[in-house]
Amino acid sequence: MSNLETSEKTNLFGLSIPELEDFVVSIGLEKFRAKQIYKWIYTKNSRDFDEITDLSKKAREILKEKAQLGELTLIAREISNDGTEKFLFATSEGEKVESVLMYFDDQSSHSACISSQVGCAVACPFCATGTLGFKKNLSAAQIAEQIQFMQNISDKRIDNVVYMGQGEPLNNYDNVVKSINIIREDIGIGVRHITVSTSGVIHRIEQLGDLDLQITLALSLHDPTDEGRDFLVPINKKWPVFEVIESLKDYYNKTNRRVTIEYVMLKDVNDSDEKAQQLGYLIKDLHCHVNLIPYNQTDVHDPFQRSSNAQIKSFKNILMKTSFNKTVTIRKERGHDINAACGQLANKHA
Ligand code: SF4
Repeated sequence: MSNLETSEKTNLFGLSIPELEDFVVSIGLEKFRAKQIYKWIYTKNSRDFDEITDLSKKAREILKEKAQLGELTLIAREISNDGTEKFLFATSEGEKVESVLMYFDDQSSHSACISSQVGCAVACPFCATGTLGFKKNLSAAQIAEQIQFMQNISDKRIDNVVYMGQGEPLNNYDNVVKSINIIREDIGIGVRHITVSTSGVIHRIEQLGDLDLQITLALSLHDPTDEGRDFLVPINKKWPVFEVIESLKDYYNKTNRRVTIEYVMLKDVNDSDEKAQQLGYLIKDLHCHVNLIPYNQTDVHDPFQRSSNAQIKSFKNILMKTSFNKTVTIRKERGHDINAACGQLANKHA
C-alpha cells in the first residue's frame, strides 16, 4: 500500500467512541458498530479488519476501503538474549519511530519505552538520538499506537509505560498529554504506571503539575552542576539546574508524587564521589528517588565510557548511607546486546 493510499484513509486508532460513531455512520454502517471496532482495537489489539469477526464480510470490505487500524508499519525488530525487544516503526510519512519492550524476571510484567518525537533537539552528547537532530513531533495517536502495536506483535499485555525513547516529551507537550489519555482510557494502563522523562523544560513541568495527572515525572539530571550539565544536557543553558530542581519541588507540592532523578554514570565525567556529594546537597529537600544508569557504550569510538561497578556503588552509598538518606537504585541492564542507546536502530536504518 502506498503512503498516498494510506493517508487517504481514516485512521481509526486514537478516535474516541463518539468520533468512531460519526465515522461509521458516515460510511453507511450502523452506529453500534463503533463500539465493536473500539473493543477489537483496544482489548484485542487488532490491526486488521478481517480479525473483526463480529462484523459482516461486507462491512469489513467497506472499512478496508475507507479506513485503517493504525498507521505505523514495522520496519525492524531485534530480540535480545534477555528477551528485550526493540522495534523500529515507520509513520505513514516514512519517519522512523523507535520503541522497546522489556520483560521482567518472572515474565509477569512488561514495560514499554516509547518515543514522542522523531529525533531530538536537546542534543545530549552521549545519546544516539541527539545526533539525529530534531525532525518532527509525533501525534498523540502515533505515540500511543506504539504500545498497541507491541502488544499486537508480542501478544503480551503491557503494564508500564515510560516516555524515555526518542525525543524530549515536554517539547511535544500537547500530543504527549493527549497520548497519556489514550493510554490510560483506551488502552487501559493505570496512570500510576506511566512515567514521563524530561531533560527539564520548566514551564511544561509547571503545566503538568497543574494537571495533576498522577503520572511519575523523571528528570534526566546527569550532573549536579551547571558547568557539567551545560555539556551533558545542553538545555541546561536555558533552564539551569537549581531552577529545574525548584520546579520539581513545586511539582511534588501540587501532585504529592515523588519524582525520579535519572543519572547516567559516565566514567571520569560525572561519577566522582565529589559529584555524589554535590548531588546529595542539590536534592536534599526534594522528595525523590535516584536511579543510577550504567552507561551503554555504543562502539569503540564512543568518547564516553561506563563507570566501574565499584564507583557506581560508591556513588550510591554516598547518597544512601550518609545524612542525605536517599533511596537509590541502579538500573538493571536490558537488551545490552541489541541496544546500546536509544536512537541506534533509527540511525542504523537512516
Ligand atoms: S537523552 Fe533524551 S533529551 Fe537528550 S538528546 Fe537523547 S532523547 Fe533528547
